[in-house]
Amino acid sequence: MIDLKKLKLDDARALLEHGAHQLPEPDESSQAYLQAVIDKLCELSQKDPLTGLANRRFFNNVLTREIEVVARSGEPALLLMLDIDHFKAVNDTYGHQAGDTVLQAVAKTLIKCVRPMDTVARFGGEEFVIILPSCQGYYGHQVAERIRESLSAMKIPISSGVTIKITISIGGAYAPRWVRSTPELWVDRADLELYRAKSEGRDCVCIEPQPILSVSAEEKHLLFGPLSLGDPAWIENLASESSVGSSGSAMNRVN
Ligand code: GH3
Ligand code: MG
Ligand code: MG
Repeated sequence: MIDLKKLKLDDARALLEHGAHQLPEPDESSQAYLQAVIDKLCELSQKDPLTGLANRRFFNNVLTREIEVVARSGEPALLLMLDIDHFKAVNDTYGHQAGDTVLQAVAKTLIKCVRPMDTVARFGGEEFVIILPSCQGYYGHQVAERIRESLSAMKIPISSGVTIKITISIGGAYAPRWVRSTPELWVDRADLELYRAKSEGRDCVCIEPQPILSVSAEEKHLLFGPLSLGDPAWIENLASESSVGSSGSAMNRVN
């Protein structure tokens, strides 16, 4: 049996109390108490303290996992990157506290706009990211537009009698299907689209066109049947060789 008195839990306890995380009474079963401390610390390590959204660490884990899923299943997944327009002006005009209130309001709206299976995270500063698994075709653009419209319709109260409005720019990119990408490459492509949205005047959505995929069920079987649990590097090598080689084979049509 664990003796709680012999464990140095003061720092963990202080951290959790500060974050208003409810712990059971320490006189309950020591195992239950310790489990609760571990669970709450895990939760804390994955959340952004200001908005309560997932933080960058959690986002990176989900992104890496999603790349695996897309590489194996071919299910399209979309990554959206969102950046509040002219946010510095909000801070400069109304103060940092007002800026924080805006970030919290944006976070709440983002959560309302997406499905429970989607991951909304704060990427840093006034930038947010959303991972949308199983996001078919035009649905991605519709969701991004819905988010943009919902955010620009918000009237955010920042002090008594003062409300402000904001706009957001959104960039998006789909994970390449059947080929294993990297989190960095995927983020870079979404970021490039975000940059395009900013340069096209802000308050708009730019999504990288989804590559046309023409792999038949038979070809998929040829590709993955014998090695569904095989070495992923093999697939990447073949895909890169095929982009250099001649046309006509099944591999050449995998992007
Ligand atoms: P753009 O339309 O090009 O995105 O312009 P911008 O002003 O939004 O972009 P810029 O990068 O110049 O400014 C971002 C600002 O976000 C600057 C920084 O002070 C502010 N910021 C970053 N994190 C926080 C935060 O946690 N709270 C508050 N209040 N402000 C933050
Ligand atoms: Mg920014
Ligand atoms: Mg900005």
